[in-house]
Amino acid sequence: MEPTLIPQTTSVPIVGRGEPLVVLSDVNKHYGDLHVLKNISTSVARGEVVVVIGPSGSGKSTFCRAINRLETIDSGTITIDGKQLPEEGAGLAKLRADVGMVFQSFNLFAHKTVLENVTLGPIRVKKMSTKQANERAMTLLERVGVANQANKLPAQLSGGQQQRVAIARSLAMSPKLILMDEPTSALDPEMINEVLDVMVELAKEGMTMIVVTHEMGFARKAADRVLFMADGEIVEDETPETFFTNPSSERARDFLAKIL
Ligand code: ADP
Ligand code: MG
Repeated sequence: MEPTLIPQTTSVPIVGRGEPLVVLSDVNKHYGDLHVLKNISTSVARGEVVVVIGPSGSGKSTFCRAINRLETIDSGTITIDGKQLPEEGAGLAKLRADVGMVFQSFNLFAHKTVLENVTLGPIRVKKMSTKQANERAMTLLERVGVANQANKLPAQLSGGQQQRVAIARSLAMSPKLILMDEPTSALDPEMINEVLDVMVELAKEGMTMIVVTHEMGFARKAADRVLFMADGEIVEDETPETFFTNPSSERARDFLAKIL
């Protein structure tokens, strides 16, 4: 995939490759006096993999949550596939079905089996038959390597297995985009790679992904762009090569010195 570089100063971003799937224009968000997203303008093309990196508290989670309307924004616009995000109602449910979300804490339904976790959305939201949803879920569980755990409860699985189930669950909805917020941060070190491998596969298959992670290996292998956030701003938008070897801002250099 060709990397794309987006000028930070334009309020309507230009995307070098592919059609823009997600476009943020001059997005602002405050929590009380705290300005957490400051005039964010960027876009993500179809099939693009964007890694978001930056210090704790820089607004990375808020950025992700704003994209699927888990958070409201104060001003600016966010469009997904050309449509502005609805505030509520049926349009919002449709949007949520289009945007998969994988959290640090897995967020599986504790009292449902692995299989039920994956079939619930397709049956309830997509009105798929149980038979069809089960077949599809098993294919997806196979793909992420946990088909043999289908009838267990999440607590009976390791963290790495639970996170792979969470990825299968988001794929079951056939999303246009998957947002992942620190998907490997809660995992024991020996389980990180099994989840990263699944993420790399998804990226290779052309899934559009926005991934908050400090895993350089993933960024180097799979990302088209790295967005570096600090204090609610996108400070850098670079290819992984440029970002990791030659970051242009002092803030990115300081940050990289701490984590590498
Ligand atoms: P990151 O994911 O980069 O660590 P967040 O987006 O979670 O950053 O948070 C950005 C800032 O907003 C932080 O200072 C955080 O404390 C604050 N914040 C996040 N969520 C809330 C909230 N619901 N209410 C008030 N402040 C919040
Ligand atoms: Mg966060």
